[in-house]
Amino acid sequence: MGGEIWVVSEIGKGATFYFTIPLIFQKQPKITTTSKAQFNNIKINVLIAEDNLPNFLYLKSLFSKYNYQILHALNGAEALKLFNKNKTIDLILMDLKMPVMDGLETTREIRKTDKNIPIIALTAFAMENDREKAIEAGCNDYISKPVSNEKLIEIIHKNIKQK
Ligand code: MN
Repeated sequence: MGGEIWVVSEIGKGATFYFTIPLIFQKQPKITTTSKAQFNNIKINVLIAEDNLPNFLYLKSLFSKYNYQILHALNGAEALKLFNKNKTIDLILMDLKMPVMDGLETTREIRKTDKNIPIIALTAFAMENDREKAIEAGCNDYISKPVSNEKLIEIIHKNIKQK
């Protein structure tokens, strides 16, 4: 993500890990009045399955101006549990690489009981193979990391409408 990570470690004492992430605050992307109005009127519940906390916080920040309810799972197993417990989830953002249960396996598990919930895979940039695998596993769509605000909102909008 273009940041830095470093560690200060002392034998017998422990280690402190540091990281920085450059965040650029952008103006709201151009959205036509109609779609903006439609979008602001709907309240949707999004489950974000993402093991990387900075990535999750970044995604959450993209949603801050919309009327979204956010649920967070740190791995696939947790995502599956949350999904089965919350029947109000409208859409899932699924990181593919997660510990315990990865995004592909989690998607396959969800598809055993729910064919309709929109699942958007979060893939590493330019991993064409990941995208194919995501669609095969049952994802409706995919978006490459780093995720842009405009693209994410567009892809969610598209998939929510199909529901
Ligand atoms: Mn991950």
